[in-house]
Amino acid sequence: MNALSASPRPPAELLLRGAHLLDPRSGLDSTRDVLIRDGRIAELAPPGTLEAPGGGEVVDAEGRHLFPAFVDPHVHLRTPGQEHKEDLDTGTRAAAAGGYCAVVAMPNTDPVIDHPALLRGLIDAAAREARIPVGFMAAISQGLAGEHLTDMSALRSAGAIGFTDDGKPVASAGLLRHALRNQILCGGFLALHEEDPALSLDGVMHEGTVSVELGLAGIPSISESTMIARDAQIAEAERGRVHFQHLSARRSVEALAEARSRGIAASGEVTPHHLLLTDESVRSLDSSFKMNPPLRGEDDRAGLLDALRSGTIEFIATDHAPHSRDEKNVPFEQAPMGTTGLESSFAVLYTELVLPGVIELELLIDRLTAAAALIGIETPSLTPGSTANVCLIDLAAQWRIGESGYESRSSNCCFAGREVSGRVLMTVADGAVAYRERAFAVSAA
Ligand SMILES: [Zn+2]
Ligand SMILES: [Zn+2]
Repeated sequence: MNALSASPRPPAELLLRGAHLLDPRSGLDSTRDVLIRDGRIAELAPPGTLEAPGGGEVVDAEGRHLFPAFVDPHVHLRTPGQEHKEDLDTGTRAAAAGGYCAVVAMPNTDPVIDHPALLRGLIDAAAREARIPVGFMAAISQGLAGEHLTDMSALRSAGAIGFTDDGKPVASAGLLRHALRNQILCGGFLALHEEDPALSLDGVMHEGTVSVELGLAGIPSISESTMIARDAQIAEAERGRVHFQHLSARRSVEALAEARSRGIAASGEVTPHHLLLTDESVRSLDSSFKMNPPLRGEDDRAGLLDALRSGTIEFIATDHAPHSRDEKNVPFEQAPMGTTGLESSFAVLYTELVLPGVIELELLIDRLTAAAALIGIETPSLTPGSTANVCLIDLAAQWRIGESGYESRSSNCCFAGREVSGRVLMTVADGAVAYRERAFAVSAA
């Protein structure tokens, strides 16, 4: 009932020759030929020893890395209602180009996904248009207004992966308590965008020395962390399952660590931009750096990195949030919040964190794939017998983000123009080839 949806595609028949396999969960770290037959990983063998499948393709993967493909629990695909920013086709193309085999879309669309008929329509559309499997969250409150709960059990029966008012917090503790009681009955999880409206007010960036110098209204870190502390306690009392979205502050991850140490069923995600950027970027007044939660100070960033390393933060999520050029091309204070991220996430994290030795490559792959368990799908694996969910990446390939455009309909990427290493050459999602880099040659068997 809560399966992800994608358009039907022929199962992959491929021989990847001589790829370096790295799959931290199964302990694979070696050079192998990989035979993918009928969309499954059929066999791994020493290089040069496997025959190509009849009618299949041979891919020269020598010098390239093969990873389990990535899973993003938090993206905005903007449909229905805002297809000038993104839709199921462009959004899942962007995901496949970034090495993702599954993504979960947020319900803050127009209209909001707060009714089973809307959700069913979206799932049907994904079964026609989505290039990789997509799951959908449904709203916690009707119209995201924070007043009345949606019919959560009907939404769950219609296929909701979980529930969120993302874009907005669930400001009312009472409403959250009732939502948790429903969640226990119908399953799934609550994904929470945490901020206290009374502390965020009309802030447009992180509250700190930079906001003071720029004279811009700030959003303090405590706007997020105090709500996480509150909601962890409510989740503990109700024994519900909560997931904290786009963590941005040191105190927030401390609150999450405390919750987990008390046995509360809580998880957390962090975005590439919160791991790599700070409010110093906002000095440019470039609206690409305006997002919610905002880019924070160096101490918060360091706290997020520590939490990623320790496992307090289990997942990296892009919070891919496309906006059109016209919408973003206005003064910083007026611009909408959000950055795209699906096509740049691996390369920026590999370049900025793995290459300088801040984190291990194995840890990055783990945090990019682990959300499969959260959303209830098979965890991508290179082990024979697994459904083929893999991405082939040339770690040595250098490129500039955005240099040849984007698969996404929008280009508001906060990492645009960065020189990075690591290019996705091919993505296989749910057993089917979902992406092939244009210049990447494939020869018939
Ligand atoms: Zn959010
Ligand atoms: Zn979001």
